[in-house]
Amino acid sequence: MGWLYKFLLQVIEDKCCYKCDCSKCGSSEFRATLISKLKCYRIIPEIDKLSKFNDRNYFIAPTYKDLDAKTQLKIEEEISKELSKLKQAQITRLEEISDNYMDPILRCLFYEFSNQSDYLYSLLVGTPAGIYLKKMIDHFNSRCI
Ligand SMILES: [Zn+2]
Repeated sequence: MGWLYKFLLQVIEDKCCYKCDCSKCGSSEFRATLISKLKCYRIIPEIDKLSKFNDRNYFIAPTYKDLDAKTQLKIEEEISKELSKLKQAQITRLEEISDNYMDPILRCLFYEFSNQSDYLYSLLVGTPAGIYLKKMIDHFNSRCI
């Protein structure tokens, strides 16, 4: 089992907020802790100064959107490797246990990287996570026409 799947299960179990654009907390626990798990996190310039965590021991800063384009690409590349390991049964499980008051957690994860959805999709073609992301992209495009 890859770390990403374990992390997503943990977030749901710990009742972290992962709501897209949450107006109360910005889902910063989920968003910042997610990228803190990546190997490339440690090589982000000045990361010690940017990092913040709360009394629940979750990182709350920085998030993907706070970082420069070069770092964002590194994050996409590393996370795509982990996303490509997700099996369909795991994706289904995450949908089933996601909190009713929030969107499914995988949708919230892809939403975080939506400035680079097409690039991320190109790294995930042919995987269950890729199929999931493609549906989101198609849905988004159909609403924009
Ligand atoms: Zn929230």
